[in-house]
Amino acid sequence: AVAVGWRVRKRREWKKAVRVVREVEEECETSVERLRQVVDAMAVEMHAGLASEGGSKLKMLLTHVHNLPNGSERGTYYALDLEDTYFRVLRVHLDGQQSPILEHEVEQQTIPQHLLTSTSKDFFDFIASSLKEFVEKEGDDSELSVARRKELGFTFSFPIKQISVCSGILIAWTKGFSIVDMVGKDVPACLQEALVQKGLDLRVAALVNDTVGTLALGYYHDADTVAAIVIGTSTNACYLERTDAIIKCQGLLTTSRSMVVNMEWGNFWSSHLPRTTYDIDLNAESPNPNDQGFEKMISGMYLGDIVRRIILKMSLESDIFGDISSKFSMPFILSTPMIAAMHEDDSPNLREVARILKDILEIPVVPLKVRKLMVKVCEIVTRRAARLAAAGIVGILKKIGRDGSGGITGGRRSDMKMRRTVVAIEGDLYSNYTLFREYLHEALHEILGEDIAKHVILKVTEDGSGIGTALLAASHSSK
Ligand code: BGC
Repeated sequence: AVAVGWRVRKRREWKKAVRVVREVEEECETSVERLRQVVDAMAVEMHAGLASEGGSKLKMLLTHVHNLPNGSERGTYYALDLEDTYFRVLRVHLDGQQSPILEHEVEQQTIPQHLLTSTSKDFFDFIASSLKEFVEKEGDDSELSVARRKELGFTFSFPIKQISVCSGILIAWTKGFSIVDMVGKDVPACLQEALVQKGLDLRVAALVNDTVGTLALGYYHDADTVAAIVIGTSTNACYLERTDAIIKCQGLLTTSRSMVVNMEWGNFWSSHLPRTTYDIDLNAESPNPNDQGFEKMISGMYLGDIVRRIILKMSLESDIFGDISSKFSMPFILSTPMIAAMHEDDSPNLREVARILKDILEIPVVPLKVRKLMVKVCEIVTRRAARLAAAGIVGILKKIGRDGSGGITGGRRSDMKMRRTVVAIEGDLYSNYTLFREYLHEALHEILGEDIAKHVILKVTEDGSGIGTALLAASHSSK
């Protein structure tokens, strides 16, 4: 009788845990109908963000990049790519003969933690010193560099109000940065000043968001590239827009027919997004509540923590993990690579899942069926993220009339001849998490239908935020 009672209790506990997972699965549901609503919402918000400043949560920032590199660029150019905990400097040689890029060199350096919250002067002094060292190491014997002013593209992947291609004011920090006095300042001007003080003759020729660098490199290799997505720790998108569709920049003196728009799509929001209590709590406890809503559902920084919150709930509602581990309550203890490792564990006994549960969450023994439930949780969270990212991409295609529907203003599918459309894509989530990539592709095909989807190519672009930015320095060179 004791054994029967134990089994009944175990079954009851199991059912409670399964109920938590079922509920979250329902809440995360992304049917193709719902995804189409997200597509429409994205296209509508893009319109609103282009119509007026502050017209939408989508900032739709002007980049003043009218010309993407086309292969005729020649010379040696530099790029500085500022990431969250490190920065990279690159030197890129171009011979003006279309691709390939002749050669490039890269050096990476960690940013000392204290500088992330210091002053703009200290920060840029540090960067300028490192740049100087890198540039001077070149040995000025190269024919290309002698007696010529050097030019640099600066990848600065934060929301910026750009005034021209080489100047822009920081709107707000994201990621781990908090150099307070820099908000509201012209970022390239701060860097330029530090470079001058170090006696380095290096002009900041272009200030570039990482997505814009990705678009530039994508376009350099394939002129059918119309948009770029970064989906890694954080996420964003940019695309080539008709200048006359950018209502808020009318009056700006330009004869160019198009301009790259940095969407800052991480901040996209729509009531059609399938939001759960876990997302609501994550947002409330984040340092930037109510900002970057889309990013918090789809990017690598957050997926692990959404999974952790679901496990915590399962452990509170049932005893399937045995005693509650204090690790369940530690924010961000589960990273997205761990989620990917559990999700993609193809060993028969789910060894990797057991290892992560034991080593990271300190749950020593977990039965196989509980491990399978863990895989299910990872799948739910990742699948939703990938499918929403796909909807975002189709939203862009719809806005520019490349979704086969004739654009947001209407038109019949049958009237349209779909052109080859390339979207450059960069970021770990897409490149390294196979199932994420597969879900994204699957959703893209579901939303667009096979006939249209076969014309849309997602192309991994490696190091757009480095090489792409150097290319933009070249195409905006004053030489
Ligand atoms: C920033 C974007 C950037 C993206 C990807 C976001 O947090 O706001 O400017 O493109 O991260 O790096």
